[in-house]
Formats: sequence, structure tokens, C-alpha cells
Amino acid sequence: MRYSQLLIPTLKEVPADAQVASHVFLVRGGFMRQVAAGIYSFLPLGLRVVNKVARIVREELNRAGAQEVLLPVAVPAELWVESGRWQKYGPELLRFKDRKGKDFCVGPTHEEAIVDLVRKDVKSYRQLPVNLYQVQTKFRDEARPRAGLMRGREFTMKDAYSFHVDEADAMREYQNMYDAYVRIFDRCGLAFRAVEAATGAIGGSRSHEFQVLAETGEDAIVACDHCQYAANVELAELVREPPAPPEDGATFLPRQKVPTPGKHTVAEVTEFLRLPPQQLIKTLIYLADGKPVAVLVRGDHDVNEEKLKSALGVDELVLAGDKTVEEVTKAPVGFAGPVGLEVPVVADREVAGVANAVTGANEADQHFVNVNLARDFKVARYLDIRTAAAGDKCARCGQGTYQGYRGIEVGQVFFLGTKYSQPMGCNFLDEGGQEKPMVMGCYGIGVTRTVAAAIEQGHDANGIIWPMALAPFQVEIVSMQPNDAAVRDAAVKLHDELEARGVEVLLDDRDERAGVKLNDADLLGMPLRVVVGKKSLAGGELEVKWRRAPEVEKVKVAEAAAFLEGRIQAELARSAKPA
Ligand code: ATP
Ligand code: MG
Repeated sequence: MRYSQLLIPTLKEVPADAQVASHVFLVRGGFMRQVAAGIYSFLPLGLRVVNKVARIVREELNRAGAQEVLLPVAVPAELWVESGRWQKYGPELLRFKDRKGKDFCVGPTHEEAIVDLVRKDVKSYRQLPVNLYQVQTKFRDEARPRAGLMRGREFTMKDAYSFHVDEADAMREYQNMYDAYVRIFDRCGLAFRAVEAATGAIGGSRSHEFQVLAETGEDAIVACDHCQYAANVELAELVREPPAPPEDGATFLPRQKVPTPGKHTVAEVTEFLRLPPQQLIKTLIYLADGKPVAVLVRGDHDVNEEKLKSALGVDELVLAGDKTVEEVTKAPVGFAGPVGLEVPVVADREVAGVANAVTGANEADQHFVNVNLARDFKVARYLDIRTAAAGDKCARCGQGTYQGYRGIEVGQVFFLGTKYSQPMGCNFLDEGGQEKPMVMGCYGIGVTRTVAAAIEQGHDANGIIWPMALAPFQVEIVSMQPNDAAVRDAAVKLHDELEARGVEVLLDDRDERAGVKLNDADLLGMPLRVVVGKKSLAGGELEVKWRRAPEVEKVKVAEAAAFLEGRIQAELARSAKPA
């Protein structure tokens, strides 16, 4: 394809709201344009990349035995009422009424719609198992759409749903999809990790996320350096031990109130008192199903709200607002402490090990030092409620230590059991003629987020470095002097030869300065670049360069097409490891 005939509106300026590389380069490179917060239009280059991800996804799902379908974007509310999610899903669900006043939503995920399809047309064990998938636009009215395609409101997802006669068969398919996902992200040329994950609004009891490793990832992951265990910190386990006693021989010093004017945060208070953060006990006031509860964790730890919610056995858990905190502690926010509180106090088990701790004094600008649990306050329950972090001992093998990573969640697989089939009456007749609910799994891939993740993993200061499998074009030819007949002819000839070989090639035939073209080539990020210039052409050669490496290779004009095709094939084969 000729650059001059494509709409590639590159920009010099970094868009004002763009902070991460994928957002910056997708806009600067003319791949996409924002229409509203979290909503984008794709231009020709951007759409080529999205389609490439979708194509790999389709090929691998078809290979794994799933069948493609297409469900509606507008889903009637009554299906969501049946599953119970119409009430539960919250403001991320975009709801609307049709002209007759009937409620609908724009599907953020399609468990309800697929269950409705299957319950009407699949009745017997003979029709099972079945795995149906679609590649479709989803809408989630995210509170904070950000980072371009990473967290949009409108985005493309591949979602698959499988139906089975029993748990064993559903677990077999879970593994089948897991393996397909490994092949998909390998073929995309991404470095990723599958980690154990929480199930969130989708539900179910077993789940893995596929996380592309990148500094800008929103998710924190821990992975054991000794065994295979890796998990999102949302649910990563910690070694379960009884409450740790204070260190041997610790003597309880007399409790004292000390002024800490204007010091609110753990860092401010401990720096001011010249103590390490683990000497402080943080007190947070939560509303658990509406009732205030004080939650204690060590100063160097974080409360894990997922764990806290399940440990307390409540449906709703929110951090209390300033007003509630002031009512409960009788002090401004930032000075809460457990001593003298009248609400129930729960603590992370490691809090028990802190002798002579620092806590808030429930009084403006005052903290206590030398607080001792056994003497000064009463903990109702000790729970595993803190977030695992790098350096913690592995809960699975008990030997290794967790390493920390950041990741971008590009896919997730769930074992659902009968969470949707039971309430929605998605039943089948088994061999003995007995009616049973189908056992389900569901499996999602963020197609557009995968595009962003590829860029987060592959870029430099000048632009994108696409993996071969996702690049809009595999090769870009830069014609340095397009007004020179020999140069122009050699560039066109190579372009035509490559196209004839099935190589995807972009020919920059614009009448622009060489510097502009080379900068744009770096910005757009095609994996291989061929420079056709007067000087080397006179010697019968072209200059070939990988986008990812600085070296330039001279290749004979007559051999160039075969040489490039060979490089491309080798590169594609390298990422598509045999299953
Ligand atoms: P997140 O935790 O990032 O909000 P999720 O766990 O709610 O995502 P799933 O319901 O598992 O998302 O959806 C399947 C896939 O769809 C995710 O793995 C992710 O790749 C993609 N996805 C989800 N939300 C968005 C979004 N707002 N923008 C782009 N892709 C998304
Ligand atoms: Mg998810």
C-alpha cells in the first residue's frame, strides 16, 4: 500500500490528556481519535492492528473447538433481572429505555444473553458440551476511563461461554481455553503471565487473569520465586499463622500521648517520630453493610478490601466518609486509633506482633506511642486482610518469596459453575432423563486493550515497536528521493514483489524530506524498514533495519524481497511456539 493514499494523520504534539506510551503513540501515529471520554474511532492503521488481534483470537478459538456467534449489543433488562445483576451491577451498566418504555442495557458482558440463547435451543446432554464466542463491542460506563485503549468505555472484547453436563467437563474446557489463551498471547508476541485472580462482578469460583507485564500496568501481581504460584494481589494468599505474639522479651513501656501537629499519613507521622513504618498501627474506619468497623493493619501494609469483605462476610464494604470518621473517633481524619473506640475492632494478624506501637489518639494533632494490644485495647477478630507484597513468604509452597510485577490484564478465564444457569433455568436432560442445570465457564479477551498492551511493552522515545504479528504492515519501504526515477522505480518494484509474496508492505512514497519520513517510520513502528536511497542503490544495495535494533544491514536489490520474507517468517514462527 502507498502511504500517499492512506489516511495516516500523524501529529508532532503529544495529546494533552495522554500519559502512557500507548495512548500518546496511537494518537500521534494517526491510529485512532478520541470522540468522547473513553470512546474512540479507529483510522485505517489502527483498525488493521485491532483486526490482527481479532484474527489470532478467532483462529485459536476455532482451533480449540469454540464456535463463533454474534449476540445483540442491546440486551433487554428482563434477562439481567433474572440473573439478579440488574440491581447489583451499579453505574457501570449503561441503561436505557426504548420508545415503549422498556428497559435495556448496552451489554458490558454477555452471560445473560448467551444463557437465554442456550436454554432455548440446547435441551439434552447429547448437545453438550458447547462453547460459543463472539468478538463484539462492549460498553462499560467506567468511572475513570483512562490511558486510551487501556481503560475505555467502549471497547472490543472476545467473550466465550461454555456449557457442560458436569464440573469435570467444565474444568477440562477451562484448561482448554487457558491453553488457547497461552497460544494467543504467544502468537501476539507478548511477554505475559497467567495468574490466579478474583472473580469480581462476573462471579464464579476459579479464575486466572492473563497479565501482560509492563510498568504502566494497573494490576499488581506477586509470583513465587520457588514454585509456580502467581496471583493478582487482590487475592494472593499469605501464610496463615496464628496471631503473632510480640517479639520475645518485649517489655510494655508506659503509653504516652505525643503531639504530632499536622502529621496525618503513616510516612509523615513515623518520620516525625523517627520510627520505622512497621512500628505504627494504621486504623481505618469502614462501613460494612452500613455499620462502622475499625480495621487495623501495620503501617507498612495495605488493607485488601476484597479479603476484608469476604472475611467479614458482608455484601457491601466502603471506606467511611470524613463525617462518619469524625463521629466514630471524635477527632478529625488522620488521627484515628483503636484505644477507646466503641465500634468493633478487627485487625490483620500481623498487628498482634507490634509491641509499643504508634497509633492515632482520637484527638486532633495527637498520637499515642507505646500502645500495646494486650494491655490497651481489645481486638474482636484477627483476620488475613492485608494485601500480599513483594518479599512476603509464599503461601503455596511455604519456601519461596514473592516477587512483585505490574501487569495489564488482557484476558481472564472463569469457572462459573451454575451461577447463571441455575437462576435462569438453563437446564438439560441427562442420560437418565433427569433435569439438571448446565455447568458453565466464561472466557474474555480485551482485544483493544491487547493493542495498547503491545505498545506499552514495545516502544521507545520515538514511537511504537510493533511485534511482527500485530503490526499494521510488516515492512515499511522509505523512498528517500521519490523524485529520482531510479529510486522511485526500485522502491515500487520491491513493494510489488513483496505484495506478490503476500508480505504486508507500506511504501512511503510521499514527497517529504527524508528526515520527516524516517521520523514517521519510527513513530508508526513497522518491525522492518527498508531505505531505498540514491547512494546505496548506485552500489546495487538497499538498507534494511529492524525497528527494535540500531544496526543497518545492506542487502542486494535482487535478493531483498526473499530476504525480507525470510526474516518475517522466522519472526512469526518464533512467537508462535508449538502448543
Ligand atoms: P478490569 O479489572 O480491568 O476492570 P475486568 O476484570 O472487569 O477488567 P473482564 O470482565 O474480565 O474485565 O473482561 C474481560 C477483558 O476485557 C479484560 O480482561 C480486559 O482485557 C478487557 N476489558 C475490561 N474492561 C475494559 C475496559 N474498560 N477497556 C478496555 N478493555 C477492557
Ligand atoms: Mg477481568
